[in-house]
Amino acid sequence: MVILGRQGSGKGTQSLRIAEHYGCVHLSTGDVLRAAVAEGTELGRQAESIMNSGGLVGDDVMIPLVQERIGKDDIMAKGVLLDGFPRTADQANGLESMLESLGQELTVAINLDVAVEEVTQRMMARGREDDTEEAIARRLGLYEAETAPLLDWFAERGLLATVDGLGEESDVFGRLQAVIDQRLA
Ligand code: ADP
Repeated sequence: MVILGRQGSGKGTQSLRIAEHYGCVHLSTGDVLRAAVAEGTELGRQAESIMNSGGLVGDDVMIPLVQERIGKDDIMAKGVLLDGFPRTADQANGLESMLESLGQELTVAINLDVAVEEVTQRMMARGREDDTEEAIARRLGLYEAETAPLLDWFAERGLLATVDGLGEESDVFGRLQAVIDQRLA
């Protein structure tokens, strides 16, 4: 499964609940990058300033990173929820060829839909270190430019399901569950 949604849509929180409920691996590329920054690895050094400025880490870094992880035994056995990947057309094409070579198929790509005005309010309120007003605007701009077009890409493949991300966390999770159960049936 893939989950897409603007920064601040609640994607991270809902992803944890989905992974727990369905027993799949939660692969958040943002978490992988933050861990690399914390550990001071080469990847972390490359990613840190890009992340802080609200930019996107290069496809040449991100695609091999996911490719390396996605074929591992736990994911092959339990399935995976991709959170934060793909974010660009090249990453989507990369994902398609990775899955093809593994003999796997996507179940669903969920668009957790929350309007720009609402997510901006939410992010200003959460006060994460990389949530400066400038970085938020840049990340949301990149989302519209690079990631929103992927919604069409998934829709063309019959994989897109849009879920309203407004409301109580458990109500949103209920909507997600309904969509996923339908696709798994
Ligand atoms: P957010 O949804 O708030 O951007 P994430 O945890 O998904 O938070 O990602 C944090 C940062 O990590 C992004 O702003 C970006 O710089 C980088 N990042 C994460 N995933 C990707 C990706 N697939 N491609 C490029 N950069 C990424």
